[in-house]
Amino acid sequence: MTDRSAVVTRFAPSPTGSLHIGGARTALFNQLYARHTGGTFLLRIEDTDRERSTQANVQIILDGLAWLGIAPDGEPVFQHARADRHREAVAAMLASGGAYRDFTPPEELEAERERARAEGRVVRSAWRDRDPSEAPQGAPYTVRLKAPLSGETVVDDLIKGRVVFQTKELDDLVLLRSDGAPTYNLAVVVDDHDMGVTHVIRGDDHLNNAARQTLIYQALGWTVPAFAHLPLIHGPDGAKLSKRHGAQAVGEFADLGYLPEALRNYLARLGWGHGDDEIFSDAEAVAWFDVTDVVKAPARLDWAKLNHINQHYIRVADNRRLADLALEVHRSRGVHIAGDRLPDLPRAVALVKEGAQTTLQLADLTLFALKSRPLALDAKTQGLLTAETRALLGRLRHRLATSPWEVPALEAAIRGFAQAEGIGIGKFGAALRGVLSGGAPAPDLASSLVALGKDEALGRIDDALSQVQ
Ligand code: GLU
Repeated sequence: MTDRSAVVTRFAPSPTGSLHIGGARTALFNQLYARHTGGTFLLRIEDTDRERSTQANVQIILDGLAWLGIAPDGEPVFQHARADRHREAVAAMLASGGAYRDFTPPEELEAERERARAEGRVVRSAWRDRDPSEAPQGAPYTVRLKAPLSGETVVDDLIKGRVVFQTKELDDLVLLRSDGAPTYNLAVVVDDHDMGVTHVIRGDDHLNNAARQTLIYQALGWTVPAFAHLPLIHGPDGAKLSKRHGAQAVGEFADLGYLPEALRNYLARLGWGHGDDEIFSDAEAVAWFDVTDVVKAPARLDWAKLNHINQHYIRVADNRRLADLALEVHRSRGVHIAGDRLPDLPRAVALVKEGAQTTLQLADLTLFALKSRPLALDAKTQGLLTAETRALLGRLRHRLATSPWEVPALEAAIRGFAQAEGIGIGKFGAALRGVLSGGAPAPDLASSLVALGKDEALGRIDDALSQVQ
């Protein structure tokens, strides 16, 4: 027997497409609510639609959840594998009178559909009240729910409140198709029941299904779970999220350089929040999250907020991890990387990451550190390398060589040099920067020197000074 006192939630994606951020947020809220209540969070792959479900999409969903760090408790349940159990439930409904065999031939059904439309009522089959023994021997049939004809079907939604449906407006849902295949709403109910799901938290595009599913629960004599339907995520302009708003799939957010913990934190803020807290830990989210606090209005995707949150998580992330991520970006861009520069990459990351909102930007900002000697100098830097500047850089190089290789000491050395020469840093700063970076974005001079390490930095200056003019 399932322990009904403990909360069980589930995320039930259909593998008919990739994992979108709306789905990822649904998964997150299910997980947070389960953790918050000390319950269980399950995953069910709804692959009943054999034509549109693919193994590749299943993998994308599993990978996306794993990347986001949203791990279910236990192995995923595959809905299609449970078809026999779904048919068993239908047999029970047939036996109890909660369902009936509908022998209506397709052309008659079409006529009834039109009549129903004209009369403004839902489709009903004549076989609802007929004796199945009157059907021709071996005639094909579907199995339909024998829905009550009057009264109200109430979905007491934890977010939407009390939503009342007139039961007569809910049709006699097909439960089994004529080939014996279970239909979607039936499968959802049987699976949620068998998995012991106590709280169904999902997108509000399923609110109407909640009414239909309630009737199936009632026909089976099962306890109806609590429902919580989440408002959709809209684009920044308030319109339904679509391709023109940019990334939608979780994988695209990864490719755009967002860290999983940042996206998780941001998703938690879409439709839910804890006061004005923008950045919070997973433990805080678990402690604070309650599904009843989800707001009714659709949430809007806000790229500036996401960038801000991502920047925070980049700032606090481990430099080695960030170096690996930056390297992945460089590799995907086909950038040639000098192997001997790799050990210095985490140090370069540490010095530039404050300025990065994404790991793509982090890659831009670390490119200078990964170039191999001698650097190809950009035209601007070459233009700056006049005889006078070369002489200055030569003298500066000797001063730098005797300085401790730390940012404040090197800053002082550069300032001291300019003073001693009676010139402003502007006289040689841009040239030095170009010599150190080859024209790629680089941080301030002292940080660039430290990011490169002493040998590399002095070597780059030597290379530039020894270049034939
Ligand atoms: N499989 C449905 C979907 O991907 C979700 C159904 C549910 O959560 O009940 O939209």
